[in-house]
Amino acid sequence: MFDFKGKTAIVTGGTRGIGLAVSRILFGSGANVVASYSSNRKAAERLEAECPGILTVSGDLGDESTAVSLIDSAFERFNTIDVLINNAGIWNYLTAGSFQVEVWDHMIRNNLRSVYLVTDYLISRWLKDGTKGRIVHVASTAGQRGEAEHAHYAATKGAIISYTKSLSSELAPKGIITNCVAPGWVDTEMNTDVFADSGKEKVAAGIPLGRVPSAEEIAWPIVFLASELASAISGEILNVNGGSVLCG
Ligand code: NAD
Repeated sequence: MFDFKGKTAIVTGGTRGIGLAVSRILFGSGANVVASYSSNRKAAERLEAECPGILTVSGDLGDESTAVSLIDSAFERFNTIDVLINNAGIWNYLTAGSFQVEVWDHMIRNNLRSVYLVTDYLISRWLKDGTKGRIVHVASTAGQRGEAEHAHYAATKGAIISYTKSLSSELAPKGIITNCVAPGWVDTEMNTDVFADSGKEKVAAGIPLGRVPSAEEIAWPIVFLASELASAISGEILNVNGGSVLCG
């Protein structure tokens, strides 16, 4: 369906969940894929075996040197980078009034600082070499409408939405296209505990579509936004949440 032959794509959090589905689709569409992950080496090895030639890179992208070295190692292996999928993220609880500053700071570092570090360093390289690259961020319905007991997570995702729009305004004139996908509930390991506690059916009942989308159903629209088929779309927040949110 998509043609990424000769292109190189970085997928952060690319060995699990939505990111894994994106890595597989991009690889199957001919791209050189660089998949980052935080710690599970076994999952990375499985992906390397499934997609020969793929580069997997471990480390916490909230750390500046790790983020820079992800980009540098992708350039070193494949010479160019054409696509960045900012997918890595975590989700946990923070009750308002519990004053857990370390939980807040960890979320900002993990879900927002990491995005800035990877993206801005890559943009600096693109502006030097003239690459007309594509960036797709993965936000969340939480960033659009807020989420009780997850204000810190929602704050990072809302920031990613604003960041998408700002980069679009600044960089589209230079040929760098930035877009964003906003999933709601997705059937991934991120939600294992919620599905075990509440039941997937109860979660599904709150989604107009009536079911929880799969990782692949989020991945295809992400890849679409990174593809030539979306060449006139910039600054878009694409809802991929079964109708849970009706504005971008
Ligand atoms: P997941 O937990 O299955 O996978 C997340 C991946 O990100 C893992 O591979 C992990 O290693 C990586 N990662 C996390 N923090 C990292 C860091 N600091 N450095 C490097 N890698 C890091 O999650 P998922 O469900 O596939 O979610 C992917 C994205 O989609 C996240 O940004 C998440 O917020 C967003 N999202 C998910 C849902 C959902 O219901 N699953 C809903 C809305 C948005």
